[in-house]
Amino acid sequence: MEMIEFKHVTKTYDGNDALIDVSVKINKGDFVFLVGPSGAGKSTFIKLILKEIDADEGSIIVKGEEVTKMSNRKIPRHRRNIGIVFQDFRLLPQKTVYENVAFAMEITHQSKRAIKRNVPQALALMGISEYASKYPSELSAGEQQRVAIARAIVNKPTVLIADEPTGNLDPVTAWEIMKLLEEINARGTTILMVTHAKDIVDRMRKRVIVIEQGRIVRDEFGKYGLGGFRKASAPENDEDFSDEAEESISATEQAMGGYSDMTSRSTTQIVKEEVESQIRDEGSEAVDESAVEDAFAKAERLLARHE
Ligand code: ADP
Ligand code: MG
Repeated sequence: MEMIEFKHVTKTYDGNDALIDVSVKINKGDFVFLVGPSGAGKSTFIKLILKEIDADEGSIIVKGEEVTKMSNRKIPRHRRNIGIVFQDFRLLPQKTVYENVAFAMEITHQSKRAIKRNVPQALALMGISEYASKYPSELSAGEQQRVAIARAIVNKPTVLIADEPTGNLDPVTAWEIMKLLEEINARGTTILMVTHAKDIVDRMRKRVIVIEQGRIVRDEFGKYGLGGFRKASAPENDEDFSDEAEESISATEQAMGGYSDMTSRSTTQIVKEEVESQIRDEGSEAVDESAVEDAFAKAERLLARHE
């Protein structure tokens, strides 16, 4: 069964083609690497799946639903079904490990009972139960990424998108993270991972979709490629990485350009969407826009305190 399907999708930003006539199917339970040079269209591909942007042509179907035609009130539920992990973890520094993971459930209005059940499960699966009451700053990079993955899977999404999840990790830790992603995949979650780490892709032997200049140029099981395309500004997963960590993070973020609106979605935007959908649910058709604005402002103050 298809989990994600793109049918002749084209996305253009002000005359600049980001994706051109892209058709691809990702099945339930697949583990797929999405690779390609900077500017190839990888982030656009992800944003379209999340419906952060809309396609100009074609259709996108996620879990049987036409994302291109989805009404606004269905978007929060759609996104809740997709967990996301980033290169730089994006944990809330003032919250403990447990609270960081629980927060992903709180903002989606899950019951206390569900939170008490799912959070310890997610921590255990990631092997970080013993860090539950520690703060992110007390953890190594690899441990922080485990927390971020626990947060991404705690709502039991059917799809997990990982954007360069090993980009800030040493090779050994990166490999541990890949094993955890493999475990999550084995339990049935579809995984789409954007990466530049050739060594990891080659060792994992999964499906590799290569995008270049807005088109899928290769889609095969196995290897990263024949070295045919340029390395993007994100660093490869090399030993000499640690010195340049900070530089690389900002370079990567720059390279990702318009990605920042998506990354901030992990906090502010998710809360906004939830508040909006709640108001819409309560108020049925007649939406008081000023009430929505007030709720947004409140959510932002709340988040400012968390961050
Ligand atoms: P990747 O993630 O593979 O680096 P993107 O999907 O971010 O690539 O970008 C694909 C193309 O679309 C690039 O040429 C990029 O400059 C362009 N692009 C991306 N976002 C925007 C935007 N918000 N406005 C204009 N052009 C954009
Ligand atoms: Mg990108």
